[in-house]
This record gives sequence, structure tokens and C-alpha cells, in this order.
Amino acid sequence: MISIILPIYNEQDGLASFMRSLESELTKLKEDVEVIFINDGSTDDSLVLVKNYCDSNNRYKYLDLSRNFGHQIAVTAGIDHALGDKIVLMDADGQDPPSVIPEMLAKMEEGYDVVYAKRIKRQEESLLKKMTASFFYKLLNKITSIEIPVDTGDLRIMNRKIVEGLKKMPEKQRYLRGQIAWLGYKQTSVSYERHGRNAGTTGYTYRKMIHLALDAITSFSNLPLRLATISGFVCALIGFLLILYTLYSRFILQVYEPGWSSLMITIVFLGGIQLMGIGIIGEYISRINDNVKNRPLYLIAETNITLNA
Ligand code: UDP
Ligand code: MG
Repeated sequence: MISIILPIYNEQDGLASFMRSLESELTKLKEDVEVIFINDGSTDDSLVLVKNYCDSNNRYKYLDLSRNFGHQIAVTAGIDHALGDKIVLMDADGQDPPSVIPEMLAKMEEGYDVVYAKRIKRQEESLLKKMTASFFYKLLNKITSIEIPVDTGDLRIMNRKIVEGLKKMPEKQRYLRGQIAWLGYKQTSVSYERHGRNAGTTGYTYRKMIHLALDAITSFSNLPLRLATISGFVCALIGFLLILYTLYSRFILQVYEPGWSSLMITIVFLGGIQLMGIGIIGEYISRINDNVKNRPLYLIAETNITLNA
């Protein structure tokens, strides 16, 4: 069976046309299919629409999260409840065309555990979003030891091996693309053209994107921490040389200024470096804190799936 995971956040206007294209694609498949909608605290009528789909077809299931937990956690909730031996992650806003599903499936038949979809073109997305995304993925690849594929979103298909691997990763900061890359096994890609949204606006605000980027970096790299240490050493070295120079000019050259400006510069510079170091450490500590608290990743308000918890 194939499970299709659809996170939904305020998609009432585009959902119907997306579901039409998905359904026409699903009827072509010979495998059994289940569709799992995860309503991630939508404030519009998305949940009503989702329930209608579920009433009309018993292969449709839904999870209604107790509030907006964010895309990555919504998808995680879907993966946790999926029964299929193949699992497809895709957006429900029409940007990920359902027509790539057969292509990804065919590729998987060749013996791969993960087939992710690479975007060869992105339509209707702002230049700023494309530029920040491209910069971020390049940076992430430079500073992490695992190979996280560039130009991919979460659109992908994976098998049970991967799902079981993900379930062994209880971390609260979810960055699925990175986590799946970290798991290894046999992974490959197919290419697709990313469409514009059917309707509505993006649920990924810049705030959420910065959050995701910081989660990705802190989850997969300790370089920022090391950077704090290195800059500390560099500053200490410069400081030491400055001390030598000051003593030299005071006692040997006998020239010295009251030195207010150099003092100020040193204090400001060192203060900045120290704050930076503390900030970086803080980013990691806050994430350790999140994990130590051991709160559930999400809570379910309502569902038509029988939960065995
Ligand atoms: N989404 C979600 N929770 C959120 C934000 C988005 O479940 O907090 C869903 C959204 O409904 C869509 C998918 O995640 O199905 C991708 O989100 P979006 O289209 O807003 O992101 P973009 O494509 O602009 O990166
Ligand atoms: Mg989108």
C-alpha cells in the first residue's frame, strides 16, 4: 500500500483542485492507496473540507492537530500514522504536481529506498525566497558532514526502512530532508517543475523559514559552536599582541597616548565577539532544553484513525 501524507494549513481555496489532480493520478495506480490529511491548526474551513473527503472515501484519513505545530511536525504526525509500505510526502497547495508520483514509484522499483524530487524550475516564487533558499542550502552543505540534496523540498517517496529509521529519531527539531539524508540507504532523485500555488498564500513565513534554517544548522552541524571558539582564540591572540605592542611603545619608544580610542575599540570588539559566542551557545542550549523537556511533538484533537495509544 502507498500512503500519501498531506499537511494542510489554511488551504481551503486550493484544496479541491489539488484533490482533483491527485485523485486522477491515484486511479492510475495499481497499488492500494491511503491518503492522510494532517490539519495543522488551520483557521479557515480546511478541516470541514478534509472531513468531507474522508466521509466520501474510506481510504481517506485525517489527523486534526490541536494547534499549528508547523509543517515539519505535521508531516511527522502523518508518517507516524501511515500504514503503507511506501510513503509519499507532498504539499497540498498544488505546488507539487501529483503526476510525479508514478515517476518516483517507477524509480523506486529499481531498488531505491528514497526517491526525492529535485526542482528544476520554481514558478511564482519571489526572487528573495529563491535567493535565500539557494544561499541556505549551499551554506548547509558546506558546514555539515552529511550530503543534504540541494533544490529539493520534502516531496519524496520512501519505504518502511526509512520510516522506521525516522521513528528512531525522537528529536524535537524536525528537519526531515536532513534526517532522511542522515539515514543513508539507497537514495536517488527525479526532476520536476515546481508549480505556483493553486490558491491562498504561503504558510511558510520568513519567521518560520529562519526557524527551519536554524533547526537544520544546529541539528546537523557543530561548526557554529566551533566558530565561537575559534573567534575567541583569534581575539585572544590579537589582544596578546596588542599588550606586547603597548608595553613596547610605553617603555622602549616612550611614546604613548592617553589611549581612549584604542581602549574603546578593543572593548567594543571583544564585547561583540563575546556576545556572538554566547548567542551561538544559547541556540544549542535552547535546543537541548527542548529535548530534555520531553514534551510530545504534537497533540491530536480529532481523527478517524484508530489510535493504539
Ligand atoms: N503547512 C503546514 N503547517 C504550516 C505551514 C504550512 O502544514 O505551519 C503545509 C501547507 O498547507 C502546505 C505545505 O505545508 O501543504 C507547504 O507549505 P507552503 O505551501 O505554505 O510552503 P511553501 O511551498 O511556500 O514553501
Ligand atoms: Mg507551497
